Amino acid sequence: MLFTNLTRANEIGANSYLLDFGDDGRVVLDAGMHPREDGLDAIPDLSKVPVDSVDAIFLSHAHHDHSGALPVLSREQPNARIFMSEGTYYLADPLLHNSIEIMLKQRAEKSIVEYPLYGHKELDQQTRRWQACSLRRSWSIDGYPDSEGEPLTFTLHDAGHILGSVGVELNHRGRRILYTGDVNFVNQTLMQAAAFPREGLDTLIIETTRGANPTPPHYARDTEIDKLANAILETFDRGGAVLIPVFALGKTQEALAFLHFLQKQKRLPQCPIYIGGLGRTFSGIYDKLARSAPRAHPELQLLSGIQPQIMDGRLARESKPKRGHIYLISSGMMTEKTLSNLFAQNFLPQERYGIFFIGYCDPDSPAGRLKATPRGEKVIVNPLAGEQPVNCRVESYDFTAHSRREDLLRYILDVNPRVCVLIHGDPEALEWFQHELQNTRPEMKVVIPPPGLSLEI
Ligand SMILES: [Zn+2]
Ligand SMILES: [Zn+2]
Repeated sequence: MLFTNLTRANEIGANSYLLDFGDDGRVVLDAGMHPREDGLDAIPDLSKVPVDSVDAIFLSHAHHDHSGALPVLSREQPNARIFMSEGTYYLADPLLHNSIEIMLKQRAEKSIVEYPLYGHKELDQQTRRWQACSLRRSWSIDGYPDSEGEPLTFTLHDAGHILGSVGVELNHRGRRILYTGDVNFVNQTLMQAAAFPREGLDTLIIETTRGANPTPPHYARDTEIDKLANAILETFDRGGAVLIPVFALGKTQEALAFLHFLQKQKRLPQCPIYIGGLGRTFSGIYDKLARSAPRAHPELQLLSGIQPQIMDGRLARESKPKRGHIYLISSGMMTEKTLSNLFAQNFLPQERYGIFFIGYCDPDSPAGRLKATPRGEKVIVNPLAGEQPVNCRVESYDFTAHSRREDLLRYILDVNPRVCVLIHGDPEALEWFQHELQNTRPEMKVVIPPPGLSLEI
């Protein structure tokens, strides 16, 4: 098998990988968009994939860093079949339509002439090529289930990261290869731990997002929930409001669910919880698939059961944060012009308010800058607002949807593959895994695939 890393750098960027099995087929795993780059630099290096040469494209999950360039790749590969889980099938459609709107705005603001990279009509035509496949079942790469005797087949396994997230197992003439996508081996509130195979895998292509982050010795998700609940209570007692910047897909739904359970257990008062419009769209899809996709609490309907209020741009501009309310709004990194950025500008000067982060923030993002600023000092979250004092309480809690590095390492050691390809991590993270694996399993072939090069593995 020839493996080509289509990303432009070894980092958590625009995920995309080409697997070439010669006459038996050529497949691409994910086609993401880089969260920090602009224009054509934000998409994978598709020049390495000749036009109309791919048989199948797989989406591991709907997050933008895995799906954002799918329409560009699909356009160049008109005969490729496009496979994903049922959850991703429903989530990726509104996510990519929203991405077009963001690109249109960026075209106007930053004069990025190539934006949008695709349009609404083209996307609508392309989604007809998408095929949702059930999990734990073998499919041929021409899209038929339970096909025996095919040289190349695939099986999807629940990855426990967000709704619809899967690991893609390819079976090439008996050699089994697993691409993890983004994976979580522990339970969240809604998503349950990944259900990945542990036996008989020859090759693992595995994410390493948290490779540079040792887990604190007494870390437990429940303890983080307790700490967050206490911080919310203290904020309410001071007469303040709480801003929790979140990603619209994944974190919004997990946070809605655990806030709901805290209220039910009377650990938090019944208070209004606001979410954004896109967060509502994705929550509606979580609700519709509550009983068909793998998750905990299938009886819980996020929208009709919890009844969050919906915050739109107009409401955000006109209304001031209200005492005793929780604003669970995107974006998670408080990117300029998003609702959470707009709200943060109101929160910062107010001592009684709280801004609580529950996910990863890039250090260069407005959220990253705020997290690095001590209370009482000044920060710029939006150049138009200028420098603002950080008077409100700012805290971070770890509710990651990615596996801890210790759990990932344990999984690799359990599987004990012949070849382990390390991806989706910053250099430090990749190197930690490489070092650990070389020390414990010197016979394992560990590969950090250089961008743009094809490797025989
Ligand atoms: Zn993800
Ligand atoms: Zn990712």
